[in-house]
Amino acid sequence: MAHNLVIFGPPGAGKGTQSAAIKEKLAVFHLSTGDMLREAIKNETETGKLAKQYTESGKLVPDEVVIKIVEEAVSPLPADKGVLFDGFPRTLDQAKALDAMMDKLGRGINGCISVAVPDEAIVSRLTGRRMCPACNLIYHITGKPPKTEGKCDVCGGDLIIRKDDNEEVIRQRLDAYHAQTAPVIGYYKDKGLLKEVDGTRPPAEVSQEIIGMF
Ligand code: AMP
Repeated sequence: MAHNLVIFGPPGAGKGTQSAAIKEKLAVFHLSTGDMLREAIKNETETGKLAKQYTESGKLVPDEVVIKIVEEAVSPLPADKGVLFDGFPRTLDQAKALDAMMDKLGRGINGCISVAVPDEAIVSRLTGRRMCPACNLIYHITGKPPKTEGKCDVCGGDLIIRKDDNEEVIRQRLDAYHAQTAPVIGYYKDKGLLKEVDGTRPPAEVSQEIIGMF
């Protein structure tokens, strides 16, 4: 059976890093709403113009905008290969919309991985985070430095600091997480789909635990 999974956790929990490992080991499509929104902003599409003000201030983009881009991305995918939703759903309404769209597509969510990291660890993680805008790969200046400073190991491109990785915006994103996203954990728990992992351990250990669950 295809694995249709959700991964979530606070910003900086390592969702992107873990998604790359899950994608490789479980051969699933990877849909990250954060990546899709950043792409739309870069390309200055209508969605991008609307999303920019929210992402840059650490607020959640309105449900209907995000639900639409996810629906457009997931609908054409062949159902015999699973999908990993990264950073979606982030509100209860998004979780309900995801169930409805998966139902329509003859798919179902079979697991939700919650990567837990306490708030204190998040700020130091995110202020040191660097990203390759071409590959979407994630580095950290001390935790996972690139081989050559400031350059992506894979494509050699210049690494960037995400605009929303500054302390003020990080705090705003954490607030959004606790207020709007944490309740989604209960939604999946009630369905018996929740799998919690301790995201404070080294990334490879976390990946191993996640892969072993499916
Ligand atoms: P991420 O890369 O997952 O941390 O997402 C970066 C930003 O994109 C978030 O802080 C939100 O502003 C926006 N975003 C990403 N996914 C969602 C979502 N499912 N719902 C609302 N906003 C989102």
